[in-house]
Amino acid sequence: VLEVLNARKSFGENEVLKDISFSVDKGEVVAIIGPSGSGKSTLLRCCTILERLDAGCIRYSQDTLVETTVDGSARYADKTTMKRIRQRFGLVFQSFNLFPHLSVMDNLTEAPVHVVGVDKGAAKKKAVELLAKMGLSDKAGAYPFELSGGQQQRVAIARAMALDPEILFFDEPTSALDPELTGEILKVMRELAQEHMTMVVVTHEMSFARNVADRVIFMDKGLIVEQGDPRNVIDHPENERTKLFLQKIA
Ligand code: ATP
Ligand code: MG
Repeated sequence: VLEVLNARKSFGENEVLKDISFSVDKGEVVAIIGPSGSGKSTLLRCCTILERLDAGCIRYSQDTLVETTVDGSARYADKTTMKRIRQRFGLVFQSFNLFPHLSVMDNLTEAPVHVVGVDKGAAKKKAVELLAKMGLSDKAGAYPFELSGGQQQRVAIARAMALDPEILFFDEPTSALDPELTGEILKVMRELAQEHMTMVVVTHEMSFARNVADRVIFMDKGLIVEQGDPRNVIDHPENERTKLFLQKIA
């Protein structure tokens, strides 16, 4: 579904992504862990076109988002391809980023109706299904400020699902939540994983990474230091930097 090759990104002198390559298969759940500042969010932002690579290649299924030209610079796809790619993924941030002036229902139907041109009735039907799945059927008419953080984040997940994405990206979806609300988000994510939704999750929740992810990627200082089966990477890390990181957060 997603292939990233030799991705590089600097902010001024600060080389944030040094040479990142990884791929995500259909139905796979990949957890990305690593210290603060290691480049996890930047990597996600580059994959979701919120930030541009300096060099490297990103492919979504048959579409190439960006590739490196012979002179070493990154060449991005044309507008039509970019638009198509944008509709293939959903994105959930740490802060819920709902439209504050729109009801829950309108938050879910906004992009399908106004960006993609889905018929309003069909978009509503889909939204009703998604809210049921998130346990929020009674909240369709509510506004974001009337909801708890956990409920808002579930709406954000439903919104990310509204366009039937091929892949969902999460950047620390639970870190802005009180511990008692974290569980309800992890439960929803676990259910999506069981339905074989393809997901890339930046997280500090080691229990999620261990129990739900098919693969864990450990990043440090802009590099993938170690990756593999969670039981190997988390419980029996080989790299010293991985060991140190896991000791610190344990
Ligand atoms: P955390 O676990 O704290 O969220 P992270 O692994 O997500 O960390 P990034 O947010 O990707 O780390 O940041 C990596 C580095 O890139 C940091 O040194 C940060 O200061 C820098 N950085 C990120 N975004 C920008 C930006 N827009 N402009 C300049 N520097 C940036
Ligand atoms: Mg981050």
